[in-house]
Amino acid sequence: MQKVLIANRGEIALRVIRACKELGLKTVAVHSTADRELMHLALADETVCIGPANATESYLNIPAIISAAEVTGADGIHPGYGFLAERADFAEQVERSGFTFIGPSAEVIRLMGDKVSAIEAMKKAGVPTVPGSDGPLPEDDDQRCLEIGRQVGYPVIIKAAGGGGGRGMRVVHQEEDLLKSIRLTRTEAGAAFGNPMVYLEKFLTNPRHVEVQVLSDGQGNAVHLGDRDCSLQRRHQKIIEEAPAPGIDEKARAEVQARCVKACIDLGYRGAGTFEFLYEDGRFYFIEMNTRVQVEHPVSEMVTGIDIVKEQILVAAGNKLSISQDQVKVFGHAIECRINAEDPKTFMPSPGTVTFFHAPGGNGVRVDSHLYSGYKVPPNYDSLVGKLITYGATRDEALARMRNAIDELVVDGIKTNTELHRELVRDPGFCKGGVNIHYLEHKLGLK
Ligand code: ADP
Repeated sequence: MQKVLIANRGEIALRVIRACKELGLKTVAVHSTADRELMHLALADETVCIGPANATESYLNIPAIISAAEVTGADGIHPGYGFLAERADFAEQVERSGFTFIGPSAEVIRLMGDKVSAIEAMKKAGVPTVPGSDGPLPEDDDQRCLEIGRQVGYPVIIKAAGGGGGRGMRVVHQEEDLLKSIRLTRTEAGAAFGNPMVYLEKFLTNPRHVEVQVLSDGQGNAVHLGDRDCSLQRRHQKIIEEAPAPGIDEKARAEVQARCVKACIDLGYRGAGTFEFLYEDGRFYFIEMNTRVQVEHPVSEMVTGIDIVKEQILVAAGNKLSISQDQVKVFGHAIECRINAEDPKTFMPSPGTVTFFHAPGGNGVRVDSHLYSGYKVPPNYDSLVGKLITYGATRDEALARMRNAIDELVVDGIKTNTELHRELVRDPGFCKGGVNIHYLEHKLGLK
């Protein structure tokens, strides 16, 4: 691979460009008309405008992206996260057009994109899943559905096989609501995802969100880079992440990590990936796999010293994984705060011009952000404008550094959620470690 086209924007495009430059690869940045001022455009070897502000016509415009790769002579395409990163049809078209997709095969993306087939694949590899219907609920057998509900035990959650982004799910607390809820979820899923298939699983009442980062070369080698806790969420959106997840049962952890590695090998998985779990009472329950790099990947990089994006590119280029499991050591602790351009009270996006930007620094501080003084945050895209990451020998040290870092950060001109972070990194519950996925919403008075 010689030249990589980055089919994304913002902080992740910048992250990918930096990795490419370290590897000595040429880069092509594609952008919409609203994004001419993005920082990574200045760092790329070539830039191509692929369409108007509306993402459907630019960052989601497959023919425009493939044409840009053709005219610039790029040979690899990195999708980042979001946009086309988990679109099997995109991976397929990229490869069919003769380029390398920096990610897993279209087949694996498709398999993991359907939650029912993903769970089935996990079961085969021995990855623990949530007790449930073992496949789709029958469409014309109410009696069987009621039986399944009774066996699993209430509360249960009905989920759409094709669902995503926190949509297509319904919690059922008692048997009399089950059939109606199945019908509603099925109808909604058909309309929203073009796939009416639904399944049922036990609804866990107070779980944590713990995920396992993996790297795999599709040539029989796979490693895990430990786990992350991302339980601080609002409306299923992660706000703060950390690695490793604090206070996890060591036996359950080792077992689940080994199973994830096995699943990668069984799947012939190529690239970086994340197995997401709910963790309750010392046990892991698989919920989904993300077949791409994740926003929170830096915390795993900080505690392992492994560059996930560079490894992603290297294995896509056909190299074997450069590390073996016994070379992966988790040292210390890392925390990431997502900086969003949003109103701190209403959480509504707050685009506009950043009149002044100052990034914190010092020992163990990392800032992944495309912001600079004078940059105008366009209103068209996700509100994530940066990530503040701190590392420490211990969780307490990482937290102390985050308190300093967040206090040093200055983003003037737009509203951001830094005030919330200031509060959270001093919150006694969070500082103690191990809060569940409802903690933040309870604290914000949303539940
Ligand atoms: P999506 O693909 O839409 O993000 P997930 O399957 O990852 O859907 O679930 C999203 C969130 O919904 C989880 O992070 C968790 O908060 C909640 N959830 C999903 N399944 C369960 C379950 N069985 N019990 C409790 N909460 C669940």
